[in-house]
Formats: sequence, structure tokens, C-alpha cells
Amino acid sequence: MEYAVVNGRPEKMGSPVVFYGGAVAIPADFAVERMGKLLGRPQITRGPQPPVTQKYLIRKIVIDPGHGGDDPGAIGKTGLKEKDLVLDISKRVKDKLAENGVNAVMTRERDKFIPLTKRSQIANESDADFFVSVHANAARLKGARGFEVYYLSNAVDDNARAVQAAEDSFLKFDDTSFLHRNTDLEATVWDLVYTENREESIELAKYIAKAVDDQTSLKNRGVKSARFCVLRGTQMPSVLVEVGFISNPAEERNLRDPEYREAVASAITRGILNYKKIYESTDGFTQ
Ligand SMILES: [Zn+2]
Repeated sequence: MEYAVVNGRPEKMGSPVVFYGGAVAIPADFAVERMGKLLGRPQITRGPQPPVTQKYLIRKIVIDPGHGGDDPGAIGKTGLKEKDLVLDISKRVKDKLAENGVNAVMTRERDKFIPLTKRSQIANESDADFFVSVHANAARLKGARGFEVYYLSNAVDDNARAVQAAEDSFLKFDDTSFLHRNTDLEATVWDLVYTENREESIELAKYIAKAVDDQTSLKNRGVKSARFCVLRGTQMPSVLVEVGFISNPAEERNLRDPEYREAVASAITRGILNYKKIYESTDGFTQ
């Protein structure tokens, strides 16, 4: 409706009124020119503005540097420890997110052992929008290289389960110079984080993988579903980024390099920010 009744007389407004959740918005120029005296101090807005959808804003992110303290994670041939490099990359991601107005909570800020239950608890209590765990990979084959991003899945098919069981038993008898103990721990990480937001986790994983693919020379091994089931604990989209293979001599060398870490952190941050932008502008991918 484009007409308003002012002092008993119908008057045409420039544009129609708009209803927002029980409130009536009238055109600002009409409010000022014709209704200003009646209303006293009119609240002027630049035309009707849609209400802010609070539900679809990303404000806080949990960054979870894997391992720490007595748990070094994977160790490379020249002694680089996963726990150290993932903490450094995570801090860089945190700082870059802060520069872009996104608050990040770290599950650890120093070289300290944090039980997996505690990581889950930190995520739960922080009221964060999603959870990003940062790890480095290790493999029996020295040539294995590249990054991969896992999203949490509470479903796993029997084939994947069988493959995982075979890999786990194989690793037990492996005698290479770096530790494989992180493989078991990584399995447990997934047990802690249950998400009802599987689709969002997949999207987040894709955005991070794309940004790392675009911005670094790392080989993209793709977005993968976690092979571990029975996920419970926090309720937020969750991904795990494997930033490279510490078991690969060339990647171990790269992962020592602060400039390289900076580039990886920038790419992860870019992926998170791209996800945030699309998530917010599409009301959580519903539009
Ligand atoms: Zn790890």
C-alpha cells in the first residue's frame, strides 16, 4: 500500500510500506516531510532495511593445533615435530582471522598436552561457529605429499572401515624413523566431535581446500570424509586440515620454513573467510 492517512487525509507516499516482523516501515522521505511534525522525532532510515539475520553470522572459530606436550604427533626424519609446526601455523591463522574481524579461540596456545576431551570441551564452551583442527600427515611411503581436508562424518561404510583397520594394523609393524602414533590419536579426534551440520562441514572443507589449492604449491589430495565413526561431543561444523606430509623430506623442509607456513596459514584463512562470506550471504547455504 502506497497511501497513508495524515491528519484524516489520504496521501500518496513515494513507495509502499513494508512489514518486518510486526513493525511497519514507511519511506524515510515521506516520514520526514509529511509525518515529522506528528511523530516529533522521526527515526530516519535510508528506506526499508531487511532485519539482520543473527542466526547466520560467523563470529567465532575454534582453531585446534593437534598434539602438544608429551604428544609430539608425527616426527620428520630431520626431527621436525608435528606439534610445533601446527601450533605455529594455527597461531598465524588466528592472527589473520583477527585482522579480518573474526575471533578465534585456540585449544592450546603453547606446547602443552591437551586431552582430546578437553579440546572438545573448549569447543563446546566457546560457543563457536565451527572447529578447525590443524595437523600434519605422515605416511609409510616417503613420496606421499600434499594437503587434504577432512570433514567429520558420523557415517562410514564397511569398505572404508575395513581399509582403515588394515592401515592401522599395518602401521603397528612399521619401523620407519618417524612416529605413527598420531594416526591413532587422529582417529580419536573424530570421536569427540559430533556434528549435525555435515553439509556445512563439507562446504567448509571445500572452501579451505580450494584456497590452499589456489594459493600454495601444495598438491591437492582433496576433500575427504573422516574414516572414523561414532562422533559425538560438540555440535558445530568441523574439519581437519592436514597441511602436508612431515614424512616427505621435501615437505618437511618446506614445513620448517616460516614463509611457507605463512603461505599455508594465509590460504587456510582465505578459505575460512570465503566460506564465511558465502555462508552469511546465503543464510547458511539455504538460498
Ligand atoms: Zn596429527
